[in-house]
Amino acid sequence: MTSEPAETLAHYKQHPGRIALTPELSPQQELALLCQALFLEGYDDHIAGHISYRQPDETLLINPWELTWDELKSSDIIRIDTAGNVIEGEWNVTPANLLHRAIHAVRADANVIIHNHPRYASVWANKHEIPQIFDQTGANMNGEIKLYNEYEGALHQQEQCEIAARELGDAKWALLANHGVLVIGSDIRQAHIRAVTLEWRCRQAWMVEAIGGGTPMPEEQAEKLGGLIDEFGLPFMWEAMVRRVMRHRPQVLK
Ligand SMILES: [Zn+2]
Repeated sequence: MTSEPAETLAHYKQHPGRIALTPELSPQQELALLCQALFLEGYDDHIAGHISYRQPDETLLINPWELTWDELKSSDIIRIDTAGNVIEGEWNVTPANLLHRAIHAVRADANVIIHNHPRYASVWANKHEIPQIFDQTGANMNGEIKLYNEYEGALHQQEQCEIAARELGDAKWALLANHGVLVIGSDIRQAHIRAVTLEWRCRQAWMVEAIGGGTPMPEEQAEKLGGLIDEFGLPFMWEAMVRRVMRHRPQVLK
């Protein structure tokens, strides 16, 4: 192992270790675990929120409309086709699948799309302000956070969703004014660290503001750290959070 951070992270990416940190997971189990893990991070607005997960055949796995993120199991995950029809599973699909499908259609890298109203990010979305980065965990991802005022165009119609998807551009994440967040990832692991980082960053900034303000991390430093983690991932993080969910809610894998 070398001492250069990029090389160290690359080493862990290529050599994750000889001990399996989680069981083998199906795509449905990965998605159910992501919902449960993010619920524990503050993505817990009742039955709000949806995560879509594109599969190699272009169908989308998505959580059911009816269930909260902390109650669903792997067998509850439904599958929709590219027109939004449920082709696997007994539950209903959220009408918001329209927006998810519009983003998947224009972003080759957007294999996982998360939407919810997490506790602290929603506060900043209500304030129409992008919070600064104050600590290392909040700097685990770099890149501009878009502030998107969707209420200028309701996202219930095909055309509006296509416009929103185009406006998102290549952003990794966005605050939706007076609403919540969108987080994009190329896989479950990347979507997880991005979603966790966004909410953590928003929580830290909220707390700093509550005590009268603080000193943000220097932009250059935050950008460098976030770039490294985004490229290589944070070793062992997703697996540790999977095990946390499995300890508390072992039924998630059923
Ligand atoms: Zn929403």
